[in-house]
Amino acid sequence: MISKKMEAAINTQINKEMYSAYLYLAMAADLKEKYLDGFARFFEIQAKEEMGHAMKFYAYVNEQGGRVVLEAIEKPQTSYKDVEEIFALTLEHEKFITRSINELMALAVKENDYATAGLLDWFVKEQIEEEGNMDKGLHLVKMAKNAPHALMMLDGQFGKRGD
Ligand code: MG
Repeated sequence: MISKKMEAAINTQINKEMYSAYLYLAMAADLKEKYLDGFARFFEIQAKEEMGHAMKFYAYVNEQGGRVVLEAIEKPQTSYKDVEEIFALTLEHEKFITRSINELMALAVKENDYATAGLLDWFVKEQIEEEGNMDKGLHLVKMAKNAPHALMMLDGQFGKRGD
């Protein structure tokens, strides 16, 4: 079983993961409009991954006899200046998610809730990967600044991301 405080904190995290999915899908839609299909595919897959994160927490709360409560998902930004802005915002967002996961971990440790700490351990590692991927994306896109050929090459490369 998890405490009511932990249940509420995980429910908030579910909302953040769902918002992440929504944000990345909004970015994908903007990239589709710009015919950057490779980057769009990358963010479509990222959105699915975020749904997966939400579902992981959803399953855990149910498993622990808690109650999942879904709140409204905030509307994400619709249009973006360019791919660089998208990666910069994504990196910032993932840093925000990392802080949020860390706060959950701190609560789990405070409550001697080792089961939740075990689950969160997976998310701590996942966040290292997420921040790394987005930081790499941002660096590569910056390198391709004012070089449409390079950007198109990157579009092809990012489009090869597997599900
Ligand atoms: Mg996530």
